Amino acid sequence: MRFAETGFNLEVDLTRGSIERVETDPRLTEQHLGGLGTNARLLWDRVPPGAEPFSPENLLIFSTGLLVGTPAPGANRTIVSTFSPQTKLMAYSMMGGFFAPELKHAGYDKVILRGQSPDLVYLWIHNDKVEIRDASHLRGKGAVETQDLIRKELRQPEAHVAAIGLAGESRVFFASIEQGKSSASRGGLGAVMGDKKLKAIAVRGTKDINIARPAEFMAQCNGILEYIAVRRQHLIPGVMPILAGLGSPQEMAVHDEKWHTENFMWGNSRLRRKDFWNEEIQKQWTETLESFRTRLISCYNCPMKCGATLSIPGLPTYMMKCFSKLTYTMAAMADLDFGLKIAQRATEYGVDGFSAPQVMAFGFELLEAGILTDKDFEGMPADDQGKFHWLLDRIVRREGIGDVLADGTHWAAERIGKGAEAFAHNNIKKHEQLPLKLGMLNPIYFLMYSTGEKINITQIEGNFPQAPFATREEREEFVRDWPHVPDEKFKDYFVNWEQRGENSIPHYPPPAATCEIVDWQERMHYIDDSLGLCAGLSSFPLKPPYHIHNLPPFISAAAGIDLDEDGLTRIAARNRNLVRAVNVRRGMRRADEKPPEDHWKKRFPELEAQLMDEYYRFRGWNSQGIPTRQTLNELSLDYVADDFEEQGILEVGDGASRDGDTAGA
Ligand code: SF4
Repeated sequence: MRFAETGFNLEVDLTRGSIERVETDPRLTEQHLGGLGTNARLLWDRVPPGAEPFSPENLLIFSTGLLVGTPAPGANRTIVSTFSPQTKLMAYSMMGGFFAPELKHAGYDKVILRGQSPDLVYLWIHNDKVEIRDASHLRGKGAVETQDLIRKELRQPEAHVAAIGLAGESRVFFASIEQGKSSASRGGLGAVMGDKKLKAIAVRGTKDINIARPAEFMAQCNGILEYIAVRRQHLIPGVMPILAGLGSPQEMAVHDEKWHTENFMWGNSRLRRKDFWNEEIQKQWTETLESFRTRLISCYNCPMKCGATLSIPGLPTYMMKCFSKLTYTMAAMADLDFGLKIAQRATEYGVDGFSAPQVMAFGFELLEAGILTDKDFEGMPADDQGKFHWLLDRIVRREGIGDVLADGTHWAAERIGKGAEAFAHNNIKKHEQLPLKLGMLNPIYFLMYSTGEKINITQIEGNFPQAPFATREEREEFVRDWPHVPDEKFKDYFVNWEQRGENSIPHYPPPAATCEIVDWQERMHYIDDSLGLCAGLSSFPLKPPYHIHNLPPFISAAAGIDLDEDGLTRIAARNRNLVRAVNVRRGMRRADEKPPEDHWKKRFPELEAQLMDEYYRFRGWNSQGIPTRQTLNELSLDYVADDFEEQGILEVGDGASRDGDTAGA
């Protein structure tokens, strides 16, 4: 009997129209847990390194995590993985909501899609009955609208549906997949779904999930819930409000946007409006949000309420979460009323709420700079807000200049030329980032942005505070009750971290300690992404309910796998290295590993090089960021090392790289 997982994947070949239920190898669960880990293994094994993202060879995987669907609070993530049209590297975006638990209850751990359908279709999974159905009548329909239409057509009001909108159908490089109360937005997953001509996946499941030691597991789950209840009453003092509690930042519940609006950059991440926020704006924005927000909402089996439904007169209801509340508003230099209205249209089109506003503002900057001309924007309304609606419509239809911008700022700049590259300034590995520009380089975030495979400035925050508290007393107070640390030395690192002077950024924490902190934060994310746990209860906030010490017995009670802290740490390292290997095989090297040039005003090239060297050494990678044979062998990834040697990525015998130099491991 399999525990926590079902032990079966659904394999769908969209070219042939075939569907298979395939039993999986339990040893893979022991090696990778599930979710992101086993997705990476599938992409490694089955997608040739040269395969284009838009090709039948590319896989699109919808995966549950190992604990999804069990009573584990917050275990509800769908991990969607593929190769991104924008970065050309592995993309994995997670969505909350209800889809993954429903899939697990239908009897599947993953849906693995390959090929390309000749016509637009959707997949209907109802326990053992699975069929590919015609979706030609859904062509051009909104992503949220499609979910409702499919539920009605199937007469299954309880079904959960993940769908793309027009942006996905048009293969817009930043198209999202929308699902109920969540979305998988980063990396252009919706474009790959559109390329496969798959409009949606609907799922309804009513089967049980087996737990290895139910009484023990339920007691642990109750402990997590009790901790959440207590922690909600004890906010962390001295940090910004969205980092004081648990969960994904509960933007839809807050009205004070002074911090975001004055610290984040407006337009195409260009302009800081230091004195923007005042009482009048707060009053106006509060009224706007309260009049549109119908209720705060949760994901499956979670007591937090991180999202909200918005019902704007004359528009269909939609869901919003986190910083997308402000992205359109700030890109268009507009007010919240505009931002919430255009976001409804953008959600139906299915576009990433970080990339899309920036891409549009980038287009207008190029127009102002004379790099694009009025001819490119023929027919555009004159008013500022109308312009954004007009351009969004062009992008998702790939019409005129919209076709160029639909590839995102990096590829659009390359196509436009004439100096447009300088305006695509906010990318990591060709992907638009959160519009945050800061003063002094922070060594921890420098490494996480540069080397993180999630290729994302947001959603990688972690359990170590982002900045030192003002006084030593406050820091000592914080570490007094901090059982989450993997080792006591992290408490010293924090207590000794000063806002100014010798022990402040950029030279503190020193490189070796910085690597250890980054490793802790990354480790927790890799664990969450394999278990399907919401980062908002584990890897993202300060002092979360899940941590490295309570997770091994928790996983063990659910899945029946013998696991201790070292074992779990090793699995996280294996998954981290396998995802890296997938990207290395597609050509990613050290030169690609950098944050946006203007992310910090004060940069330190020598220190940054030292940090990169130290981190690569710490990880057991060579100077190009390639895991050495020794590292790979230690993690039972010998087959990766063999492949690297065969491809000439590593030299046989010594782990050296032919396009780099000798390994430092
Ligand atoms: S913490 Fe928030 S985002 Fe995470 S599962 Fe709960 S409701 Fe969803």
